[in-house]
Amino acid sequence: METLLLVRLFHELALKGKNRPFFLKRAKAHVGRALKGLGVALQGEWPMALLFRLPEAAWPEAKARLQDTLGVEGFARVHRTPPDLEALKAALEKALEGESFRSFRITAKRSDKAFPLTSPEIERALGAFVKERTGAQVRLKGAEREFVVRILPGAALLEVERHPGPGGLPPGVSGKVVALLSGGIDSPVAAYRLMRRGAEVVLVHFHPFPLLSGASREKAKALAERLARFQHRLRLHLVPFSEVQRHIIVEAPTAYRVVLYRRYMLRIAEAIAKEEGALALCTGDSLGQVASQTLENLHAVNQAATLPVLRPLIGWDKEEIMAEARRIGTYETSILPDEECCTLFAPKHPVTRARLEVVLQTEARLPTEALLALALKEREVLTYTWPGKSLPKAPEDAFIMEHGPA
Ligand code: ATP
Ligand code: MG
Repeated sequence: METLLLVRLFHELALKGKNRPFFLKRAKAHVGRALKGLGVALQGEWPMALLFRLPEAAWPEAKARLQDTLGVEGFARVHRTPPDLEALKAALEKALEGESFRSFRITAKRSDKAFPLTSPEIERALGAFVKERTGAQVRLKGAEREFVVRILPGAALLEVERHPGPGGLPPGVSGKVVALLSGGIDSPVAAYRLMRRGAEVVLVHFHPFPLLSGASREKAKALAERLARFQHRLRLHLVPFSEVQRHIIVEAPTAYRVVLYRRYMLRIAEAIAKEEGALALCTGDSLGQVASQTLENLHAVNQAATLPVLRPLIGWDKEEIMAEARRIGTYETSILPDEECCTLFAPKHPVTRARLEVVLQTEARLPTEALLALALKEREVLTYTWPGKSLPKAPEDAFIMEHGPA
């Protein structure tokens, strides 16, 4: 008996018609990269699943990684046995060690139709065995513990531990998007939601350094590092924005400052999108959440872009966004204090119904081209990769040598 890792791919990947092989290939490559450095070896492959050999010590790290690997429906630790009931019983016996439950079920999936028993017959035989060993009741619905058994040609797999993956499409299958990343709670979630839909995201953050502190820039870096877990390779453009703001503060009616900041952010992001070959922009706007996100203001801001501006959170409320931010691990960074561009000289009473002619009259007095060129020239571009070259963590009781081997 051997313990292996079974990774099942997201069900939606099966629905891609003629493109299905392309989607599956990308998902498998993504899973392979997620497990990099853990000593895995591919043992078997089905259209919608992968089977790996995995060193026992690497299991906790593999689990942590797969929980963040887009395109993974779920994964399990499995015992591989010869395809016969006695071998499966021996594997179950081992799996039962140290377990206690009051109800259970066996779920058999028989892909080798030549196996002498049908799936219900396998379930009954193994169910009787587990019942006898544990005294637990069989319960088909709502059982405390489920054991999944797969009968394949030449082998059987018993799932002993199963976990859900995040689902979603693997990165890059849907094309490229430039996402505007503030230091706040919403925009990292918006970027993540597009990654989940297979977009390859490039991040852009506008910071007020050196006019204000570099705190928002540091937060953007920390968020990018976290988001790289989902995409494996993620670029972050850090764009100085204080020169644009200085001009807007001088020329614009006070109430219009934020709408104008946003329009310049979209313009600069669009220039970056052209360089990157991206076909859309993304923001964390949620309808009506703050003054800059009324429909009138979104309309006035939107006119500055020619690319589609995707707003995956437009219909989400703050509670939902916060819950998702916690789940993907960006929340703790997002709530750190910072000094961000948009609070800089933000008006007490921003317009909630910006008029486009006021916006355009103001912009006619601004050196737009020069400001864009300067922002692009002064930006920094950082690349985050994940997983690094990390090796699996040594077990607690590992023998640590004082000196390298001779
Ligand atoms: P967030 O939590 O994402 O900061 P928010 O509720 O604070 O959103 P706004 O400040 O109105 O909303 O920003 C709306 C969107 O504009 C953000 O979600 C983000 O996509 C973009 N944005 C705002 N400030 C910046 C910035 N400094 N750099 C890059 N994008 C920004
Ligand atoms: Mg914000």
